[in-house]
Amino acid sequence: MHSGGIRGVVGVLLLLMAPLAGCLGDAVDDLVPERKGIPGGLTLACLQDDRFTSMVVEIDYEAGYKPLTSSTDMLLERLESVCAKPNGITLEFEEVTFDVEGAWSDTDVRTQAWASKSGDVQDGDVLRWQLIFPEGEYDQDGVLGVAVDASSVALFGDTIQDADGPFGRPSVEDVENSVIVHEVGHLLGLVNLVYTSPVDHEDDEHPGHSSNDDSVMYWAVNSADLANVFFSSLPNEFDNDDLNDLAGLADGSIAATDQLWT
Ligand SMILES: [Zn+2]
Repeated sequence: MHSGGIRGVVGVLLLLMAPLAGCLGDAVDDLVPERKGIPGGLTLACLQDDRFTSMVVEIDYEAGYKPLTSSTDMLLERLESVCAKPNGITLEFEEVTFDVEGAWSDTDVRTQAWASKSGDVQDGDVLRWQLIFPEGEYDQDGVLGVAVDASSVALFGDTIQDADGPFGRPSVEDVENSVIVHEVGHLLGLVNLVYTSPVDHEDDEHPGHSSNDDSVMYWAVNSADLANVFFSSLPNEFDNDDLNDLAGLADGSIAATDQLWT
């Protein structure tokens, strides 16, 4: 299923009419048994090294859904460029089987992610974030990935496979590269999820996303119709406003809310 022609145009319009649909899961009341937080709730835990000096990014995938090395390498590079982890950031891969029939809800993502975490999210001086790559699609059409709490993200490979552009521009690999950075950008609190930026760069129509289509945090990076928005090349980097927000959070000049560890 390539996006294009009338179907693609309809898809874009539907997305424009449903600005809240997308890649930020509904918040839940999760005080017991363990606080899971909201996306961005472990931003300072990554950006600062006061408590966590190293970090594990756990990547749990179903058979056939392992992300490309270029995607996870890019993710590592982006995290290393913004997070203070003197003892390093490690990727941990595991093939798993999830227990979900049909489309995935936010609750499914949260439940399956937490059931498959290989360690505590906050384990001594080690911070653990997790990306799951399940078979199947999200219960909202055309969503490529979702961030559901402070440590858990899902990317939907079946939807990503169909989101490439005509003649593979952008390619499936380009799409996966960008979406993996985008979703982890939400775990970093972008845009305005757990702070208020001194610069107005949040898209009014798509809360939590950048208004700059050169930023990986632009809303359409999460959409199966992204090939219609970007035509050939996709952003896969944080822009200067994103980076300045992260730097301000890291040095304390921008106040962070909803942090799980303070
Ligand atoms: Zn998003």
